[in-house]
Amino acid sequence: MQRWAQVAKMRIHEKPWRLFLIALFCFSFLAASCVLIAGKGSYTVTVTAWDRVVRLDTSARTVGDALEEANVVLGPNDYCSPGPEAPLTQGLDIKVIRASLAFVSDGGKVSAIETAKNTVGDLLSQAGISLGADDAVIPSREQPVPDDGRVRVVRVTYADIVEEEEIPYTIERRNDSSLEAGLVRVLRNGTEGLAKVTFNVRYEDGVEVSRQQVSRDLVKDPSPQVLLVGTLQEVTRGSDNIRFERAIEAVATAYCPCTKCCGPYANGYTHTGILAERGVIAVDPRVIPLGSRVYVDGYGFAVAADTGSAIKGNRVDVCFSTHEEALRWGRKQVKVYVIE
Ligand SMILES: [Zn+2]
Repeated sequence: MQRWAQVAKMRIHEKPWRLFLIALFCFSFLAASCVLIAGKGSYTVTVTAWDRVVRLDTSARTVGDALEEANVVLGPNDYCSPGPEAPLTQGLDIKVIRASLAFVSDGGKVSAIETAKNTVGDLLSQAGISLGADDAVIPSREQPVPDDGRVRVVRVTYADIVEEEEIPYTIERRNDSSLEAGLVRVLRNGTEGLAKVTFNVRYEDGVEVSRQQVSRDLVKDPSPQVLLVGTLQEVTRGSDNIRFERAIEAVATAYCPCTKCCGPYANGYTHTGILAERGVIAVDPRVIPLGSRVYVDGYGFAVAADTGSAIKGNRVDVCFSTHEEALRWGRKQVKVYVIE
């Protein structure tokens, strides 16, 4: 009877033991899990940050924490891959590129931008710069940002402009047998024509770089200048028939060999060494060669045998034997016929 009582007593105490065992089991499981989780959170990662490479055994959970352990402080524009929020994984390569200054010239205005972007296109996106269809960027969007950081955005625009264009007139020469050879008369003045030309102009940063003609509208035709060109080579003066090569219109003044006319050192001889007397004229040798035989209207036949410092161009001096005759002539507009 006593033995049965003992068994009954043990059965009474069986329930708390089972509860204790279950609790112990659960605790052990939790502890083991914690150890496992802690063990699982220990990683080896590599941080490549600008000039150094750090191998890190870490229990950090995120890239950001691992960087902190590696004493890498990210600037706001530094590049980090994977990003600081990304979870760590075993063997992860974390890459950090320090931002540097880029100088973006946009339409001539330069801004400095701190960037870790690789390509010009990414840099422009970071800077909030968008390109129009015609705009250009140097280097191009796909290129890496150059070492000196200089990137140029060229704003390209087009505009049509209209310009007036003067059209020169042509010159029409007509032979005129009533006019002496060597002489030319304007029969009709020429007038310039006018055209309106439309150009499509390309501007880069507001500066014209090229233009293409789009259209050209004639406003006014030019009208030619008409010149009469003398062909006459023979004239009659009194009883003289004068055949000549060419005629020249000249201002003729008169002189004599005296010291009043030819200066205090006048010796009475001409430039060519012949005596200065009636029948000698002084010329500009570039217009009438020295030695030419001429006929001067109102004066008669003569030889171009003298020069003078004041005799330039279409000017001649006709020589008289006396000062009085020279004074009487004075100054006249004449035709000089060059005979040979
Ligand atoms: Zn004189």
